[in-house]
Amino acid sequence: MNESTNFETNAIRAQHERTQHREHSVPLYLTSSFVFEDAEQARALFADEIPGNIYTRFSNPNTTELINKLCLLEGTEDGIATASGMAAMYISMAALLKTGDHVLASRSVFGSTHQILTTIFPKVGISHTYVDIADPPEKWEQKIQPNTRMIFVETPSNPALDIIDLEWLGGLAKKRNLILNVDNCFSTPYLQNPAKFGANLVTHSATKFMDGQGRVIGGAVLGSKELIKEVRFFARHTGPSMSPFNAWILSKSLETLAVRMDRHCENALTLAKHLESRPEILKVRYPYLPSHPQYQLAKKQMKLGGGVVTFEIKGGIEGGRKFLNSLKMISHSANLGDTRTIATHPASTTHSKLTEVERAAVGITPGLIRISVGLENIKDILADIDQATQ
Ligand SMILES: *Cc1c(COP(=O)(O)O)cnc(C)c1O
Repeated sequence: MNESTNFETNAIRAQHERTQHREHSVPLYLTSSFVFEDAEQARALFADEIPGNIYTRFSNPNTTELINKLCLLEGTEDGIATASGMAAMYISMAALLKTGDHVLASRSVFGSTHQILTTIFPKVGISHTYVDIADPPEKWEQKIQPNTRMIFVETPSNPALDIIDLEWLGGLAKKRNLILNVDNCFSTPYLQNPAKFGANLVTHSATKFMDGQGRVIGGAVLGSKELIKEVRFFARHTGPSMSPFNAWILSKSLETLAVRMDRHCENALTLAKHLESRPEILKVRYPYLPSHPQYQLAKKQMKLGGGVVTFEIKGGIEGGRKFLNSLKMISHSANLGDTRTIATHPASTTHSKLTEVERAAVGITPGLIRISVGLENIKDILADIDQATQ
């Protein structure tokens, strides 16, 4: 297809080429390998002289369609689909870093990303320094070392929903010749395009809003041809590839991403405003609430506020547990980005491996509740939260 300038059209019309069967919806290519027409074609494919599929660990029509679509949506040149979001985070770092290198990261990264930086990378001599995402720009610049090679951030952060100025950070990375790697999972390509602000790599867990229906695990690393070439080499030989089935599901999911995200964001803003009006709730955070300390920045770099709202319930840990046990419709799960509204208590689940001090540093108080706002009728979402906070 000809590339459109409109997100929705690309999300729907970027498809693998039709076969002789004239199918309307792209078929699922469940095949581990591909046949060669002759010895010369086999040689040229292996020598990377011509594009084409060899073996599904390297590429497959379904993963290629997904990646081509994601590149159009994020505004990147190339990319690679991975078996999970964590495979994407890991290979985007491991493929480009070596012993002696240093990563500057925002403190509030996803729990397993934290484990990669603090437990796995030190084994091979890759170090890191954390900076608080809400820290002023000078702090970030001061922490850059001569061996720093990458900056890794999530914005908005999970679960504190702090925001960092991507345009400023992109400028800093460029000035200091560092690779800026942004985990864009919370925003999806519909709400925020880090590459447009200078991010060199955009990483995703496709498991969340991208699938949006809680079905499959997947991830992606997107960026320039030059960087992805190295990431692809690493992935091809270490094997964290996405299954064609998951790629097929995810490419179809992206067809409805825009309409789903519009509703997720509308429901989330309504919930956030409602919670702010309730005396039982101590503090509400949502990027598109005027009370958010970085409201203006959110408006600048995000199309809408996203699907996650956090609040602080009275009564600390016990208050949080009572709230979760009182919910009637809303699911109690550790996931997010689903059609079904999900409540999480980070202090006792997703972030329980952190110490109390580490939790406080990333804004996780004992009574903090994270709501991934789903697509049910907003009246039912509000009613369940209201009865559970009585
Ligand atoms: C879930 C998540 C990940 C990890 O993704 P998986 O698909 O579960 O491996 C990484 N980053 C963020 C921000 C996430 O929410």
